[in-house]
Amino acid sequence: MKDPVCGMEVGTKGQPVIHGGKEYYFCCATCRWAFEQNPDEFTK
Ligand SMILES: [Zn+2]
Repeated sequence: MKDPVCGMEVGTKGQPVIHGGKEYYFCCATCRWAFEQNPDEFTK
């Protein structure tokens, strides 16, 4: 899986964020937070 915020390769460990029916994983809490603020910006 790829962190949609920073582009880093990440595993599928931890709790994904579901957006538009897809699961997204993040390298860190900061990327997760940024995604949650504006998911459309990172998924278009
Ligand atoms: Zn990241």
